[in-house]
Parts: sequence; structure tokens; C-alpha cells
Amino acid sequence: MKKNNRSNCDKCRAKVSSPKKLKKVNEGYLCSKCIKKNRDKHREFLRRDILGIRKREDIVKEWAEKRKEREKEQERLRKIYGDAKPQIKSIKKGGAKISSLSIYITKNEKLVLYKKLVHDGLSSDEANERIKLLSSEMENVRKELKNEVKTQEEFNRRFKEEFAKLAGGLE
Ligand SMILES: [Zn+2]
Repeated sequence: MKKNNRSNCDKCRAKVSSPKKLKKVNEGYLCSKCIKKNRDKHREFLRRDILGIRKREDIVKEWAEKRKEREKEQERLRKIYGDAKPQIKSIKKGGAKISSLSIYITKNEKLVLYKKLVHDGLSSDEANERIKLLSSEMENVRKELKNEVKTQEEFNRRFKEEFAKLAGGLE
């Protein structure tokens, strides 16, 4: 090995008092400051990339980016929907949380049934009576389904099926 008689660091070019103060590494002969810097860099690499410990400033930066993305998305939705943002209802898994909306026979459904029944030859009073009966039967179906199903989707589907059965039975 060629003897070192440098008096300057190969990296930062700092002058050292004796060649013995320089340490041989891959990059050449480095002063103690550069050796320390390399060691710190390597330690940081181990912490961040190998151990997954991230620098606080990186995390803060990521937070800021996420916030920006969220704001952008909200702005996008505002442009589409105006200030009335769509509410996304969450459905709890396990315990069925069934909203009471959309489960009763709607006015429109009642009207359609009424027209159908009158068309089929029932009097107005008879038609109303049949619809009342159907409504109370659907209320029982609702109570039963509430104990059986886990999600709103399943509930809606089953309720519609039962409704179709009962409404079909009116013919
Ligand atoms: Zn140096």
C-alpha cells in the first residue's frame, strides 16, 4: 500500500497537522470531520431506511402534503356539489344500524299500488284498506329483518324482495 503523505482531506480539502490524522476509506483519505459526517449519514440511513425510523421533518412534510391533497379534494367536491357536500353514511359492522328512512312504503309506491288496485277493479276504499294492510305487514317485515341482517344494503334488498312478494300477492 502506498504510504499516505497527504496533508489535506480528499473530500473537504481541509489541511491537517499530520497525515496520521487522515483515515483511509473508500472515498480516499478523509479528515475526522468528514469521517464523522459519513458516520452520521450512515446512521441516519440505518435509522430511516433500515429501521424505518423517520425524520420528524419528513413526517411533517408528509402531513402538509396530505392536508393539501385533502383540501384539493374538498375544493373539487365543492365545485361539483356546491356547499352541500354529499354525506357518506358509515354502516357499523356487526350490529345492524338500519336507518328508518326508505324502509316504509313511500307515498309514490302507495300511489302506484293504489292505481293498480283501482285499475284491477277495487273501490277506492278497498284499495286504501289493502294498502294499509300491506303497510302494516311491511312493518312486521321491517322488524324481522332488523334482527336478521347486518347491513343497510342487505336490508334494502331483502325489504324490496318482501315488498314485491306482498305487493304481488295483491293481484
Ligand atoms: Zn474532510
